[in-house]
Amino acid sequence: MSFSALGLSEELVRAVTEHGYTTPTPIQAQAIPAVLAGGDLLAGAQTGTGKTAGFVLPILQHLTTVKVPGNANGRLPLRTLILTPTRELAAQVEESVRTYGKYVKIKSMVMFGGVGIHPQIDGLRRGVDILVATPGRLLDHVGQGTIDLSRIEILVLDEADRMLDMGFLKDIKRVLALLPKKRQNLLFSATFSEEIKTLADSLLNHPATIEVARRNATVEAIQQRVYAVDRDKKREMLTHLITTRKWTQILVFTRTKHGANRLAEQLGKDGITAMAIHGNKSQSARTRALSEFKEGRLHVLVATDIAARGIDIDQLPHVVNYDLPNVAEDYVHRIGRTGRAGAGGEAISLVCVDEDDMLTDIERLTRKQLPKEIIAGFEPDPHARAQPIQLRSPGHRPQGGRGRPAGGGGRPGGAPGGARPSTGGKPAARRSGARGR
Ligand code: AMP
Repeated sequence: MSFSALGLSEELVRAVTEHGYTTPTPIQAQAIPAVLAGGDLLAGAQTGTGKTAGFVLPILQHLTTVKVPGNANGRLPLRTLILTPTRELAAQVEESVRTYGKYVKIKSMVMFGGVGIHPQIDGLRRGVDILVATPGRLLDHVGQGTIDLSRIEILVLDEADRMLDMGFLKDIKRVLALLPKKRQNLLFSATFSEEIKTLADSLLNHPATIEVARRNATVEAIQQRVYAVDRDKKREMLTHLITTRKWTQILVFTRTKHGANRLAEQLGKDGITAMAIHGNKSQSARTRALSEFKEGRLHVLVATDIAARGIDIDQLPHVVNYDLPNVAEDYVHRIGRTGRAGAGGEAISLVCVDEDDMLTDIERLTRKQLPKEIIAGFEPDPHARAQPIQLRSPGHRPQGGRGRPAGGGGRPGGAPGGARPSTGGKPAARRSGARGR
């Protein structure tokens, strides 16, 4: 199967070939003809499957072959809206639009909060065909009357499950109300909760459905290891592993923003270059950390789940779960950062006695036993008792549902609301509501 056999134009095939793609991935082989046919689409696919090209390529083809008249003011109408949950994903998707659209005359723009609004207003004034946006900033423009959504022909909800997890449902509904009734809708989601199904039912009209194999079922190339460790020895163990095993480029996950900051600082004191990315960091700090990490100038990137979502770093050799995630599915997303495109990778989890239930949940979800190993010099205290787990950074307050609720999103067989009874008896701190506005 080739890209041209899927019905794509010579300009688009040339761009992807130059970019090094020879064969469409399974999601692309199915999504490209379905989108070109013009109907709605419901696709189950995670980051790493090639889903972005799966919708960007046929959209580019549609926009270049079907011409429309300009607006009354002579400007190009905005014809495609791609909504993403995070700034990083928005930036990556727009970058892909530029890459794949290298040989066609299509103007794209990315729009998210945390940066000045005026350059975005200027960009919209100059005319844009494809807008990639996060919901909050898009609605700011709607409020200011600086965007016209009345000519949208194609709407994409990318990582729709994440958008709902982050409390964007109400924002999405506000945007939907502003779009023309007649349009093509594409919904991409890694998981299908009841909430996603309800959204899909209300949004999609007789959609084609595509499901590509889940990453946890397919990525055999990832070696998963679990090291038992006392909770106060984790940092020391991480430094030990990085230095003795000569690891390079390590993405480390922590549960809280505070934990990410503290760990990056401590690693720095151990002589390991590290930076933290999370929602409280400015956009420029996040972008800088990510590019330094990609270029190999930064040894360790410490991230929370939200910040790391959608980050595309090819062939990352090591992912470390410094804390296990409180939602088992996040484990799958996290380790999916390594072992990309057939390259081997290692996912290491540092697990203390407080996290035993989480490990059980992960084993159940991935249908794989993850035996705990012990590293000499870091033997855990056999008498250690589990303590409740702090799910949020100290002083954290949920802000209008934009933050990720701790413990949201379908953890099987767990306590309600993400509260996690530790094996020591007392329930962990309960989350403070605000799920799925
Ligand atoms: P995505 O799931 O869209 O985030 O894509 C994941 C990664 O796969 C990106 O680094 C893409 O550049 C890469 N990719 C997408 N399509 C192909 C393809 N057909 N062949 C090789 N790599 C691809």
